[in-house]
Amino acid sequence: MNSTSQATWTNWVGNQSCTPKTVLMGRNEQEVAEAVRMAQDAGCVLRTAGSGHSFSPVVNTDGIFLDTSALSGIISIDPLEMTITAGAQTTIREIGPPLLEAGLALKNQGDIDTQTLIGAVSTATHGSGLDFGSFSGELVACRLVDGTGEIRALSREKDPDVFPAVQCAIGTLGIVTEVTLSCTQAYRLKEDIKIMHVDALRERWDDLLANYRHFSFFWMPTDVSSGLYGFPEAPADSCYVKLYSETVAPAGSGGSDVGKRIDEAHKIYPHVFEPNFHELEYFVPADQGIEAFEAHRELMLSLLPDSVFPMEVRFVRAEDAWMSPNYDRDNMVISVSGAPGTDYWPYLRACDQHLYDRLGRPHWGKLHFMTAERLAERFPRYGDFGKAREQFDPNGIFLNEHLRALFG
Ligand SMILES: Cc1cc2nc3c(=O)[nH]c(=O)nc-3n(C[C@H](O)[C@H](O)[C@H](O)COP(=O)(O)OP(=O)(O)OC[C@H]3O[C@@H](n4cnc5c(N)ncnc54)[C@H](O)[C@@H]3O)c2cc1C
Repeated sequence: MNSTSQATWTNWVGNQSCTPKTVLMGRNEQEVAEAVRMAQDAGCVLRTAGSGHSFSPVVNTDGIFLDTSALSGIISIDPLEMTITAGAQTTIREIGPPLLEAGLALKNQGDIDTQTLIGAVSTATHGSGLDFGSFSGELVACRLVDGTGEIRALSREKDPDVFPAVQCAIGTLGIVTEVTLSCTQAYRLKEDIKIMHVDALRERWDDLLANYRHFSFFWMPTDVSSGLYGFPEAPADSCYVKLYSETVAPAGSGGSDVGKRIDEAHKIYPHVFEPNFHELEYFVPADQGIEAFEAHRELMLSLLPDSVFPMEVRFVRAEDAWMSPNYDRDNMVISVSGAPGTDYWPYLRACDQHLYDRLGRPHWGKLHFMTAERLAERFPRYGDFGKAREQFDPNGIFLNEHLRALFG
């Protein structure tokens, strides 16, 4: 438990915390099922956490907090099927080396690798690249204890009618004990990180998107913005551009300086961030990406100094998980942050309005201003997800206040 005292859970960045009445251990499926039945009998909310890297209140409970951290470790790797099965709380970082040993790798990763596999799956955590979906899209099977205490083994193949609900459920369908993720052949990445003026980036936008395995960037509204995310100095209106391509060159042959390394993929993706930002993130249609970026840049310039953190821009391929923001749509993703200790809400609300109006869908693990009505407008399968949720958790024991307002 990320905790400041025995009974208080706090997330990584420190903007969410809760003091549950009871903390229970869920070290195996039987203990998880018992805890679920206790929550049912007591009529209270039960939640569990991954590594606490969500900014939104997706873990908080004043009822039962179930500590599932023991559900961790690799169960099997299947090089022929190219899948890995692991305890749900295994971290992304832990699976890199054993996958490589088996000749495999995750197809893509995000900016950090300290999340648990189920945390990443539950919120559609993603990296960048229009050829790649999110962790939700890579889930092919899982074991889950539903809201009645029933243990279910589910797979994409066997359960096509409900699996798209399970793939991205923010912990509202059950406690997942094991996950199976689809992988690919191991690959090496050559990184090419550049500081480019925004005008140069605009000119090369289509070229960079088409010609690199991964293209993403951080636009700097001010001269101090780059330092806030731990990047090298970059002037206002420039971009920290991350370009990654596959290579057969030997690992280590690019040297050790970040920006020019050549290494196994899982070593290239992660960056280390300080817990000094509170982030909001929305997904807009990729085919309107550049216009959305331009308009958001203008908005941020008009809202300085509140908009001092960089704007991150990434791309994600469409996928079939009903509540994934990438459901049935290629997306461009815009993330912005507020500074802890300041009243950043008016700034983030202005970002929300702008991005929502551009058909924006939220990242479940980041700050957002969604309501049930807005979700129904933005997610075509919201109603189907609601039916699956009621079937898996008829008494709503997994719905905390935040999730009840969205899905209850
Ligand atoms: C510094 C930083 C960088 C980030 N970078 C990226 C990025 O590059 N791309 C991106 O998309 N996101 C990114 N995120 C967001 C992050 O990936 C998500 O919020 C993710 O959910 C965090 O995983 P976690 O293991 O910390 O899960 P938590 O935040 O602890 O939990 C997430 C959800 O999973 C549920 N859950 C946990 N365990 C279980 C279980 N056993 N069964 C069912 N539900 C469960 C929780 O109840 C909760 O609803 C970043 C966040 C931070 C702080």
